Formats: sequence, structure tokens, C-alpha cells
Amino acid sequence: SKVPSLRLNHGGAMPQLGYGVWQVPDDEAAQAVGTALRAGYRSIDTAAIYGNEKGAGRAVADSGLPREDLFITTKVWNDAQGYDTTLRAFDASLERLGLDHVDLYLIHWPLPSRDLYVDTYRALEKIHADGRARAIGVSNFLPEHLERLIGETSVVPAVNQVELHPQLQQSGLRAFHAEHGIRTEAWSPLGQGRGLLEVPAIVAVAQKHGRTPAQVVLRWHLQLGNVVIPKSVTPSRIAENIDLFGFELDADDMAVFAALDEGRRLGPDPAAFDLA
Ligand code: NAD
Repeated sequence: SKVPSLRLNHGGAMPQLGYGVWQVPDDEAAQAVGTALRAGYRSIDTAAIYGNEKGAGRAVADSGLPREDLFITTKVWNDAQGYDTTLRAFDASLERLGLDHVDLYLIHWPLPSRDLYVDTYRALEKIHADGRARAIGVSNFLPEHLERLIGETSVVPAVNQVELHPQLQQSGLRAFHAEHGIRTEAWSPLGQGRGLLEVPAIVAVAQKHGRTPAQVVLRWHLQLGNVVIPKSVTPSRIAENIDLFGFELDADDMAVFAALDEGRRLGPDPAAFDLA
């Protein structure tokens, strides 16, 4: 595969492009993940709350690919935050995945109102120390939450997986990550396919390169240094979304993208989100 890997601050390296399986039902996940693995993806992003760790794990087992060639991420859900509950949730995730370790384990949301993310992260540190998660990190964390982890725990998160696309470019957060050696991983990198891929400026960049809007958006992410995990269950799109290594956006194209930032979220505000 031509997907480059990015070195993490601990736990080795991570493919810059992976396959996300949010909203893929468990009974379809094995087939969808299998399609992605055959298309060349080696990184899979799931979560306990997605309910498809079993299907994803089955596809991994059936692929015949060596475990060391794969990069599997899962996440602890909000209802399991806390030290002991997180250790148990991790065991259950590993069991469903059918694996003896994951490559990356993330706290799914900070839930600042509950103030449990530091204890939860200490459980991740224990899991990491035991070799059962090669790398640990977080998702949907704001700088203030990262500051607290960095101040009160010993392993700097390898990754913060956040909503990021051309209409929510997160430049302040990305600069904070760069300063602290944290990789920025973009969720909903295609803006969930809603509207973003019809923005005329993006369509024009796509036409200029003889590529699709999805491809130029993903290429923009890669050139910014983001890790991306686009989702599709359509085989042709799964293939299209990894076919990104035969062209490059130029400075004019990058400027077109820079002008699209609206600072608008599609998903919840991490400061307020409190759903169990
Ligand atoms: P996405 O931006 O990847 O968009 C996916 C949608 O875009 C698809 O359902 C499809 O409708 C469309 N699409 C995909 N490829 C296309 C193509 N080539 N051409 C046209 N349309 C295309 O959105 P997402 O699924 O929300 O995010 C990707 C992954 O990020 C998820 O599967 C999940 O793994 C992760 N995620 C994480 C969190 C979090 O809180 N950590 C939240 C949301 C998503």
C-alpha cells in the first residue's frame, strides 16, 4: 500500500489513512471492512459504542493479513468512564475484536461535567504499560482537557481524534497538538458527505485535477498532516477514498480550501456533550 505512516510520540507509527466504521451495523461490518482491507486499507477505526467490533474483528481474522501489518483503533464509551470500569470495558472490546492487543485505544469524549477523564486515562496508561494498547490517546478533547492530562498523567496522548473538515479546520487545536507532539486525526473528514462535496470551490479543484470532490478533500487533509478515516460502505467509494497518492494539490488549491473554514460543527460541542 502507498499509504504513508506517521510516527507517533509513543507506540510506533500509524497509517495516515484508515477506514472508519461508524453507523455500519455489526452484520455488515465484516463485509465492509473486508472490502476495505482488500482495497489496501490497513487501519480500522471502530468504537465500543459503534456496536461493530465483532464484525470488524471477524474481517481482520478472515483477511489472512499479518497482525503486525494492521492498525486497529477502538474507544471507551462514556458510560464506562472511570478507572475500573474502563479496564473492564477494554477487556470486553478486545474480546469482541478477537485480538490480544489494539494499536490505539482512545477516550471517546471528555465529558468535562463528570470529571472522570483523568481517572479514565490512568486506566489507559495501565493498559498501555501492559502492552495491550500499543498507543493511547483521546477523542474530542479541547486544549484545556489535554493540558490537564499532560499536567496530571505521564503518557502524552499519541492522538486526538476530532471533527475536522474544510468547514471546521481546527487551526488553533492543530497548532496546540503540534506543540505537544500529538497527532491530529480527523473524524467526518468528508463532512459526512452532506453538502461539502458539492461546494463549488471544491468541485472546481476536483475538476482541475480530474479527481472527485471526496479525493481532493482527503488530499487536503493529508497535505495538512492530518490522519483521516473516511467512511463508506460502497466498494467503489472505498477504493476512491484511498486512491490519493497519484496527485498533489498546489498552493492555490490549498488557499481555496483555507478560505472555506466556517468554524461550524456537524457534531456535538465537546465542552457540553454529556451523553451516556
Ligand atoms: P465522513 O466524513 O467519512 O463521511 C462519510 C459519508 O460520506 C458516507 O456515509 C457517504 O455518505 C459519503 N461518502 C464517503 N465517501 C464518498 C465518496 N467517495 N464520494 C461521495 N460521498 C462519499 O463521515 P463519518 O462517517 O462521520 O466519519 C468517518 C469516521 O470517523 C467514522 O466512521 C468514525 O470511524 C469516525 N468518527 C468518530 C467520531 C468520534 O467522536 N470520535 C465521530 C464521528 C465519526
